[in-house]
Amino acid sequence: MSTFLLFCYGCCFGSLICATSDRYARHESPYFPRSHCDTCQMPLRPWQLIPILSYLYQRGHCHTCGAVIPLQVLVVEVAGGWLATTITGPATLLAVAWLYLWTYAALCDAATQTFPGIISWLSLPVLFWSAGPLVWGLGALWLLGIHFIWLHLSRPLIGDGDLEFIGLYALAFGVQTTAWWLLTACLLALLHHRQFSGRIALLPYLTISALGWWLWS
Ligand SMILES: [Zn+2]
Repeated sequence: MSTFLLFCYGCCFGSLICATSDRYARHESPYFPRSHCDTCQMPLRPWQLIPILSYLYQRGHCHTCGAVIPLQVLVVEVAGGWLATTITGPATLLAVAWLYLWTYAALCDAATQTFPGIISWLSLPVLFWSAGPLVWGLGALWLLGIHFIWLHLSRPLIGDGDLEFIGLYALAFGVQTTAWWLLTACLLALLHHRQFSGRIALLPYLTISALGWWLWS
């Protein structure tokens, strides 16, 4: 498949991830109603649903009411397209699908500090498709262990979803790669929140770091 086609498919995935994570944050159904402006509720016309081009043509504003469309939409659509161009075979296809899943989780986490727990479990077949039963078992054990321990913690210092992501990443890519990935994510979080109080959503930084390292490699 040509790079351009992969990019187009990836942009569509990016757009879908933005729309569904926004609906998750608003406690809306992912299916109904049809795509609409969150401010004026006007249903979007087909030409307003074209990834990247619609945003640029409308200059980041709703065509009807002028409400600002977050820049994050454009960034995720472009990143989704770019990510798809790294697919060269079944192994990279699964890794890219895994990164799409966590991009969705990161956007949910950024808005609500939660994300659907099914994402962690979906990671097992997607990330470890060709691995043996030992790796599958270790992954499942990690997720179950975190789940049960976190049920008994009243004020955990880190979210269970963050730890699930970190453990699966280490299992897939090894300790050294994980160390660099974590360091980058923590630096990004510190730079962005130089004066913070309370809890911050770490998953977006972990995901940005994972996307960055994947595209770099
Ligand atoms: Zn509007």
